[in-house]
Amino acid sequence: MTKHNPLDKIKPRVRELKAYTLKPDRGAVKLNQNENPWGVSETLRRETIKRMESRNWSRYPDFVPASLHEKLADFAGWRADGVVAGNGSNELIQATLMVTVGEGRRALISEPTFALYRQVATVLGGEVLSVPLDDELGFDVAALREAVGRERPDVVILCSPNNPTGCRIEEAALEELLETTDGVVVIDEAYFEFSGRTVAPLLGRHTNLAVFRTFSKAMALAGLRVGYLLAAPELAREVSKAVLPYNLNRFSQTAAEVAVELYESELKPTVERVVAERERLFTELQNVEGLAPVRSHANFMVVRSSIEPRRVYDELLERFGVLIRDVSGYPKLKDYFRVSVGTPEENDCLLGGLREIFKG
Ligand code: PMP
Repeated sequence: MTKHNPLDKIKPRVRELKAYTLKPDRGAVKLNQNENPWGVSETLRRETIKRMESRNWSRYPDFVPASLHEKLADFAGWRADGVVAGNGSNELIQATLMVTVGEGRRALISEPTFALYRQVATVLGGEVLSVPLDDELGFDVAALREAVGRERPDVVILCSPNNPTGCRIEEAALEELLETTDGVVVIDEAYFEFSGRTVAPLLGRHTNLAVFRTFSKAMALAGLRVGYLLAAPELAREVSKAVLPYNLNRFSQTAAEVAVELYESELKPTVERVVAERERLFTELQNVEGLAPVRSHANFMVVRSSIEPRRVYDELLERFGVLIRDVSGYPKLKDYFRVSVGTPEENDCLLGGLREIFKG
């Protein structure tokens, strides 16, 4: 019998995809993944460990992490039966697409954006429709409205503030989309804490809206993998069908509860410092000949560069130990790199390195 190539059994559209990966480079100054540069405070760490000591590690965690859902509902101003916590918001992106997208279904996104939306929708067999950002790297609201009306996508996914460009969708524009479409509209608010805005108040009026959030950025818990979804209870219940049982481990659930309880005193001040540093970094980068930063509502920004982004990445890493993200492979971003906002010292290292590289 002739031996067949097992890869022939992989869906052709999956074979064509490039895997979503991250270069394993390490740098002393890590500005490549938009994490909270101040990390987890001693108070938060101790309180989480103290609570874990009295919990039973040999038993399954809660089937539904109700105590976390309640705290998140309070935090977000929404109802607990409309909250789903997940193993990172990535899991909830996947679950939402699993219940909305498949052969013959369509997802509309606006690119450049977080690469996972296209990746997961494609793996699931759906068609991905893409509306480019405008020339200032903001949402092209008119084009989005037109595409929603013409294409009637099953799901629309927008990231606000958008990774990697930092632009935000205005509430009035979003409401118009919510009213125009008969699809589910997902707003990924992974970075909302840095923007001072949220679309969560629209949940009460729009049963087709789902909001995703994460503990990986402002909440400083990327290593523990927690995210959550806010939606009308009926929609939340459907998405839950694609979430694996016990997706959230007990340790992560506990840490997330502590983080929400202590947000005001332990985490919000770090968010405020990041926002102040973002504005300083923006101004300083504008003063470097050859660089043009793009205003951002998140804890990162893209920067247009007169030197090839690949070379800026390599030189920052090799000469200065600063790790950034080369986003030049994204649509519309051929001349751009992305930097996360770090502590003042980290940002000074970045600025010092860039000034050297762009000298003369
Ligand atoms: N959404 C966006 C826009 C992101 O940038 C990221 C992380 N890079 C995620 C979701 C994933 O977050 P999590 O760690 O919660 O899976």
